[in-house]
This record gives sequence, structure tokens and C-alpha cells, in this order.
Amino acid sequence: MSEISSKYIIVGAGLSGLTTAYQLEKTGETDFIILESRNRIGGRIHTCDGIDLGATWFQPHHQNVSNLLDELELSRFHQFSKGRSVLVYSTMAPEHYFESDSNTPSAFRIAGSSSKLIQKLAAPFSNRIYLETAVSEISERGDALSLQTNKGIFIAEKVIVTVPPKIATRITFTPELSEVVMRAMDGTHTWMSNAMKVGMTFKRPFWRNKNLSGTVIGQVGAVTELYDHSNFEDNTFALMGFVNEGLRDYSSEERKERILDYLTKYLGKEIGDYLSYEEKDWSQDWNTSCETIKSVYMSPAYGNPIFTKAYMKGRLLFSGAETSPLYGGYMDGAIYSGILAAQKVCE
Ligand SMILES: Cc1cc2nc3c(=O)[nH]c(=O)nc-3n(C[C@H](O)[C@H](O)[C@H](O)COP(=O)(O)OP(=O)(O)OC[C@H]3O[C@@H](n4cnc5c(N)ncnc54)[C@H](O)[C@@H]3O)c2cc1C
Repeated sequence: MSEISSKYIIVGAGLSGLTTAYQLEKTGETDFIILESRNRIGGRIHTCDGIDLGATWFQPHHQNVSNLLDELELSRFHQFSKGRSVLVYSTMAPEHYFESDSNTPSAFRIAGSSSKLIQKLAAPFSNRIYLETAVSEISERGDALSLQTNKGIFIAEKVIVTVPPKIATRITFTPELSEVVMRAMDGTHTWMSNAMKVGMTFKRPFWRNKNLSGTVIGQVGAVTELYDHSNFEDNTFALMGFVNEGLRDYSSEERKERILDYLTKYLGKEIGDYLSYEEKDWSQDWNTSCETIKSVYMSPAYGNPIFTKAYMKGRLLFSGAETSPLYGGYMDGAIYSGILAAQKVCE
């Protein structure tokens, strides 16, 4: 197999890696390629049949997401929240109904789904993305770095690793990175790698007709959070949310049955009339997760300064949501780290 050389190689075609590529392209730098282990781009942003199985929401303070959407001429809209929401907080007490304060705007969603952002971002350089190309080793070779992959060897002057630090420990670095760096990587939880999502589409938003918002917050039961996930145009109707991790060990049929039973109880028997049903357990996806995941529900402190330094004689940089000092773990952090990496790699 012949070797492929490029000035810059970005490892990972998630939001962070694509942002770096987009920034480089904007400055006129086109001598880069992206290596991606999956057979698709987007990483933890993945929409199936209109259901965002990965990232969905952003907040007004997520300025990097806002700016990027503006630049790519993509619209946003508020999470639907009109009507009564359900809180299931105890097995010993009845459910509680509440309405959200209309003066407090709900989170934003991206019109056309989160994957639309990915598609638009990657469009200018999609021919420079190598899919199903997993990097297993990065070694110094003279004035360059050599990347061993399942598709052969790639050579670059500089490399940006955007793989979540915890799973980047699977890459062999030659010479080895210091123990301090490897420990920091191993100790960085990959945000949402333990999440399990479910989504269903419907002909009609039957819950709205009952003055229900579609929001179900379950402190007990099969679904921990559920929301109306209808599209921006409001002509495709859906519900989407997070599954209780306790259901991970059930068969998919049994889990589905429990989820549907639970939602029937709080939203009605029309749940059974779904047009499509999607489920994704990120803990079982080795491009995001690993054997030793933890159940983490509050975003940990991200942005360890170790990840802002360059390694391998200044040729290796780290980027990605978990390396970001700003809104680490979130889409905003992924974009911010991608912008920083594009600046640093050109220094
Ligand atoms: C279920 C879920 C819900 C979420 N909800 C939200 C939300 O509502 N709002 C929000 O802001 N954020 C949310 N997030 C987080 C958000 O998705 C991430 O912050 C963001 O997508 C991370 O982008 P990234 O590029 O840093 O990493 P990733 O998207 O993980 O990209 C890394 C890429 O590297 C690839 N890769 C891995 N190993 C290799 C290898 N060896 N060689 C080559 N490529 C490799 C992976 O396949 C992947 O494409 C959610 C995440 C999940 C999973």
C-alpha cells in the first residue's frame, strides 16, 4: 500500500475535527486530510430518521454554536414545551404535572436536525475525509509524524487528535507520551458515553391534543427524560429522550416493551402507533466508549491544561469537546477546541 502525505492530518471527523478543517479551509489552507474510524462523519452527532440520537440542544450562552450556525446560514428553534409536563418522582406517589414558565425560553435545537450542521460544515472538504480509517499508532519519523491505520500509512507535518482522550489511549504513541499525559487522557470521562437514547416518530402529535408537552421526567422508571422532537417545520412529529441505564442489560425487545409500557402510562396508548422506533446505546459504540465507562450525569470539569500543550516535538496537538476549557463536553466546547486547534497548528 502506498503512503499518503498531507501537511496536516486531523484524526476524527466529529464536530471538533470538522471545525478545525473548516477554519483551515477558510484561511485558504487546503493541505489537510481527515481520518475517521466510523463509516460516517459527525461522531457524537448522529441523526437517524429525524431523531437526534446524539447531541440535540444548545443554550443562548453557547456562542460558538450560535456563531457557526449563523455562518453556515442554519436556523435554530426553541424546544417545544407548551402544555403540561410529567414528573415521575417516586414509586410511592402519583406523578406530578407542571407547566414550564413561558417567560423562561427553552433550549435551542438546530433546524433540520443536528446532523445538518455536520453536513454543511463538511461540505467544502468532504473529498478529503477518509472514512473507516482508524488510527492505531502515531510515531515520529524524521521531520514528520507517521500514522498507522487499517488502510495503510499516512504522513503529516502535524497531527491533531480529536478522538476523546479516554479512547485515544488506545493509540500507541512512539516515543511514548509521558505517564502524566496518559493518566490525564485515561482519567477524562467521555461526555455522554454512558447515554442511551430512544426516539419515535408519529403521524400526529397526539400528546399536544391532550395539552401535554411531551416532556416526561422520570426519576424512577424506564425513561429518565423525554421531549417533543417534532421538526422545525412542525410537519413531522416525534418524541425523543434518554433511557434508564438500568435497562441496558435487557434484550432489545424487552427494553422496548418496558419503554412503551412506561410511556403509555403517562402519555397514552397512542404511543403504540409509532411509525418508526430508534434506539442507541452509546456505551456499546467503541468509537465513543470503552469497557470502563462510568455513569456520569453532571458534566465533569473538562479542559485539563495538559491538552493545550503540543507533544512529539510540537507536531502533535489534542482537541475535542473534552479538551475544551470552555463548555467542555458540549457541542460548544467541541467547536471552541476546533477553532483553537486550527490557530495553534498554523503557529
Ligand atoms: C447521547 C448524547 C447526547 C448529547 N447531547 C448533547 C446536547 O444536547 N448538547 C450538547 O451540546 N452536546 C451534547 N452531547 C455532546 C456532543 O455530542 C459532543 O460534545 C460533541 O459532538 C463532541 O464532538 P468531538 O468532535 O469533540 O468528539 P466526537 O464527536 O466523539 O468525534 C471524535 C471522532 O473521532 C473518531 N475516532 C475515534 N477513534 C478514532 C481512531 N482511532 N481513528 C480515527 N477516528 C477515530 C470517532 O468516530 C468520532 O467521529 C451529546 C452526546 C451524546 C453521545
